[in-house]
Amino acid sequence: MYVVLLCIITALEKGIIVLQTFEEFNLPPLIARGVQDQGYTQPTPIQALAIPALSSGNHDKIGLAQTGTGKTAAFVIPLLSQLDASSSAIQALILTPTRELAYQVGGEISKISTHTKLRSALVYGGVPYPGQIRSLNQGKPQIVVGTPGRILDLIDRKVLKLSQVKFCILDEADEMLNMGFLEDVKSIFTHFAQKPQLWMFSATMSTGIKRLIKQEFNQPEFLQVEGGLDHKKDIEQTYYFVQGSQRREALLRLILNESSVYGLIFCQTKLETVGVAQFLQSKNLAVEVLNGDLTQAQRDVAMKRFRKKQVQLMVCTDVAARGIDIENLTHVFNYNLPNDLESYTHRIGRTGRNGLKGKAMSLVSSADIPRLRKIQHTSKVELIEKKIPDGRKVNEKLMQRQLENLCSEQVGDLSPDLLVKMDQVLHGLERDQLYSLIYNLRLKSSLNLCDETMTFQKPRPEKKEYKPRSRSYGRKPRSYTRRRLH
Ligand code: AMP
Repeated sequence: MYVVLLCIITALEKGIIVLQTFEEFNLPPLIARGVQDQGYTQPTPIQALAIPALSSGNHDKIGLAQTGTGKTAAFVIPLLSQLDASSSAIQALILTPTRELAYQVGGEISKISTHTKLRSALVYGGVPYPGQIRSLNQGKPQIVVGTPGRILDLIDRKVLKLSQVKFCILDEADEMLNMGFLEDVKSIFTHFAQKPQLWMFSATMSTGIKRLIKQEFNQPEFLQVEGGLDHKKDIEQTYYFVQGSQRREALLRLILNESSVYGLIFCQTKLETVGVAQFLQSKNLAVEVLNGDLTQAQRDVAMKRFRKKQVQLMVCTDVAARGIDIENLTHVFNYNLPNDLESYTHRIGRTGRNGLKGKAMSLVSSADIPRLRKIQHTSKVELIEKKIPDGRKVNEKLMQRQLENLCSEQVGDLSPDLLVKMDQVLHGLERDQLYSLIYNLRLKSSLNLCDETMTFQKPRPEKKEYKPRSRSYGRKPRSYTRRRLH
């Protein structure tokens, strides 16, 4: 019989859980040292809940948490604490929806297990097999992290043996299902000699996730921190009315109006990403595209440039951006609103992380109003309506910033020869001529980027109050954290 131990911890605030220090978990000393090396002093809420829960009992476990909450370490720490470093059998299998997430999980494992003899291997599609086969055969990892398709391939090739797996973890399970990996995941489950303990982490409880839990999980314990989405309080969520043809100019103004931007721009289609990127590049902004048409190598180059902050903006589709984990993003722009709350939550959750403030700005046309209302209604978050800033004011701000940047540039000394020559030629120049020269050389192409003639109107008068029409919206809104899971 399917029994659920629903363990919704409602109150860090009420004192049911007091955020501990890591010492209180009594971690094996070598793991504790690894944690300490990371500079983690206090567990995040999901860690405070999950580390003791995942370290005890045989029940399957389900954690509701998003990226940015410390959920990777929340399962990596208790997992590493329970593996046998003296055995060279694979004891843990971690499934991730994307190669990027596999990297992130693998990185956290390496860091925290650094003082132990535990080894891990990463396997994912899009690259040749030999290197991965070698890392499985010769590396003798106790932990394998990978994407479902490649894991199945390696099982079929009899390279990956799951007979001794004790723990199987599904990370970002909702993303995994969204990407169509359900059948692969179920197929992987059939290859265990004995049913391992299943742990799942997911940001949302979609119907697909509930079905998977029902079919595959044994008396799962749910780990959820009330206010698990609370980090959204660190994200200022605003929206701006535009008409279709005004989106590009609106986006440009929003970007230029901010003093510094390092962020993602989400588009609906691959074609749109290219159009938006070309437009922004034509305005001298450093922009990369990330969409499904890119080869893995092109994708890697784009990600590398973005990570190194050689470009300030990445224009992407939802699918291409899955698993991107970049620290310190300041902004997420929704060039179009996504269709549902789940995607909206995933998108904006890329910023406002690790206690830093972030901004999520959405462009909304009249056709998007129902979607906007739905997102506001279901998330119970107030998105603040703001006006697209005035083009002239943005241009003025930009000019001020560019001049300040110019003056603060570090410049090397010129050679005495060159100084003499320049003196001879430039000596008689008037101030105006000199400034014009600087303008032409350095400023011309990066000033007056906004089209000052364009004005933005609200598409139609706002209704005083939103009254849900459809039956489903008419129901009492259920809180994200308290909704019934079954
Ligand atoms: P995640 O939710 O796993 O994507 O983690 C988000 C970020 O939080 C990562 O950069 C982690 O290194 C960091 N992190 C995880 N746990 C802690 C902690 N207890 N204290 C400080 N930072 C943490």
